[in-house]
Amino acid sequence: SPIPEYMLEVLDDCRNTDGGTVADYIPELARANPERLAVAIATPEGALYSAGDDEVEFSIQSISKPFAYALALHDNGLEAVLAKIGVEPSGDAFNEISLEDETGRPRNPMINAGAIATHSLIHGGNWEERAERFRRRVSILADRELQFDEAVFESEMETAHRNLAIGYMLRTVGILENDPIDIVRGYIRQCSLTVTTRDLATMAATLANGGVQPQTGRRVFDDLTVRQVLSVMMTCGMYDAAGDWVTTVGIPAKSGVAGGVIGVLPGQVGIAAFSPRLDEHGNSTRGVKVFERLSTDMGMHLMEVP
Ligand code: GLN
Repeated sequence: SPIPEYMLEVLDDCRNTDGGTVADYIPELARANPERLAVAIATPEGALYSAGDDEVEFSIQSISKPFAYALALHDNGLEAVLAKIGVEPSGDAFNEISLEDETGRPRNPMINAGAIATHSLIHGGNWEERAERFRRRVSILADRELQFDEAVFESEMETAHRNLAIGYMLRTVGILENDPIDIVRGYIRQCSLTVTTRDLATMAATLANGGVQPQTGRRVFDDLTVRQVLSVMMTCGMYDAAGDWVTTVGIPAKSGVAGGVIGVLPGQVGIAAFSPRLDEHGNSTRGVKVFERLSTDMGMHLMEVP
């Protein structure tokens, strides 16, 4: 098929984009091989194409946020979730202590403050139960039993001062109603879920397919939940580079500090890229390049008049 060949060509073109550095504020992530590079494309019909280091495992990190948001919406309904977490882009870095003045709500579910609040809304009695509920649900999306990376989890817990500070702040303003340490621990466990680039493309394709897993045909999230998730990915998924991303790539997306990026073209395709070096916004440098190239070649930009 010409598709894998094309994908190899894209990877080769993006390989010399080597700016940025591997995340090291989580010590375990600093051990990643910075040369890794992969891309995968999955369709709502169940096809999956990939190239490069497509079977290498890494932690999902912030790419867990849209899926946790979907699960929180599923568990609580839109109104209850909106009471706790806004939908406005913050324009701030992902780990900014960014809360609305009037309500104390985190500005959106894609930054850490909003994602910690989101995690607290997943049904479960404690951090382990919420993380496990998340793991099970996301495994259905990936059509594979995913596991947590214990070393990444422990490592991030040891340096989680900033996320704990955010948790305590959220507790003070009443957005969190329980022990902030328990909630931050569950959030960090959620971020330590291990995936491959192929898994991520499959998960993205489920969103592209309105919540129905392409290979199994199983409905995992309803249409309106997926619409809500894709909307916040569009405006907030790439943090303080969201405007840049929307203008150049033009599809809803989410990045993680381990180097993963997903993008969703509704009704068309789910895409994932992976490369550990990050730019100043915490987005994969080469991952962004791969998406720019794919968007141009495949005419994916949602604001392009056909
Ligand atoms: N677990 C990471 C954190 O909370 C996720 C951040 C990210 O991927 N941008 O810092």
